[in-house]
Amino acid sequence: MPGAVIVVDDDFRVVLANEPAVTLFGHTASELSDMSFVQLFPRMPEDSAGERSGRSEPGAPDDGRAASCGQRMAIARSKDGSEHTVSVKCTRYGPDGASAWIVMIADPCSQAAARRDDQQRVHFSRVSELGDMAAALAHEINQPLTAILSNARAAQRFLESTPQDQVDLREALADIVADSCRATEIVRKLRQFVGEAPPETQPLDMGNLAREVAHLMRRDALARGVHLTLDIAGQVPLVHCDNIQLQQVLINLLRNAFDAVEGCRAEDRVVSVKVSAAPQGKGVSITVSDRGPGLNTDQIGEIFKPFFTSKPHGMGLGLSISRMIVTRHGGHLWAESNSDRGATFHLLLPSASAAAVSELRQS
Ligand code: ADP
Repeated sequence: MPGAVIVVDDDFRVVLANEPAVTLFGHTASELSDMSFVQLFPRMPEDSAGERSGRSEPGAPDDGRAASCGQRMAIARSKDGSEHTVSVKCTRYGPDGASAWIVMIADPCSQAAARRDDQQRVHFSRVSELGDMAAALAHEINQPLTAILSNARAAQRFLESTPQDQVDLREALADIVADSCRATEIVRKLRQFVGEAPPETQPLDMGNLAREVAHLMRRDALARGVHLTLDIAGQVPLVHCDNIQLQQVLINLLRNAFDAVEGCRAEDRVVSVKVSAAPQGKGVSITVSDRGPGLNTDQIGEIFKPFFTSKPHGMGLGLSISRMIVTRHGGHLWAESNSDRGATFHLLLPSASAAAVSELRQS
């Protein structure tokens, strides 16, 4: 047992002591054996029911073979003469006519120290979580900020062109507004996450979500010479999820795929997104495939770990955050290398319950 325990016989002499009791009293186990209870606990308050007045021994009702006294404070004396207050609980145990007292000793000082240690551990883990959150925030916020910057530059170019390109200018400004809103939402979601508020889920059509994300990413794709294809198979079941969080997952997968095809020949800079009903009614399957260098077995084991990155300016957080989000939605996210070339990331999400779907249809 982790706490100090001694067993005393009916004459209140020690017959057994465990290792923590040896440490507590500073006597060796053999010194302890045969010592009297009174030597170890010279004083005990006379405050509990069943205690015989004036006795410095564990009090107990006389009639029971097994009886106990409640927890009480006592003064324990160590070998070096030092005394400190402990709390003891005595239980009488008497099988087959024999009888002994099991004395459990708790040291409030060491308990307080342990509590302090626990509080410190919680504090340190919060601080380290905050560090992770800050890194995650920097990572997530980077995407809309980059998009805002490139749209703002494009808008400047459209303004300077003659004649002015009003249609593109309006589109670029609309994208800036949308990305700013998304950045604000991401910060709000992360604050909600730290405060452990439940995610704001609603039944969503993953086909629509994929279209929205493809729209958000189209300028990025264009700028990097990537051909993004979208294949949405007819009717897919609705998924009960947080719109912004699932958008973040898809955006992360697309950004990685764009990075992966960066060094490829123009005709291989292709990234395909497929949304379909998962087999056997298991929900919705979304795949993001590219024709980049692919992943070897070692990488597949590493890429979902936080801070794993092979990119010079990567943070290695996108996939770990994405997997965390997907897992929270009851889904799975995994990767595999394609048989010919490139990699495919699979996202499987459970379909929303029938109740949630009818709620959506009524609204
Ligand atoms: P980051 O993009 O900042 O490196 P991620 O967690 O998103 O962080 O990705 C971790 C690593 O996984 C990447 O650095 C890369 O090595 C690998 N990876 C992710 N997607 C692909 C992909 N489509 N093809 C090849 N490797 C990939």
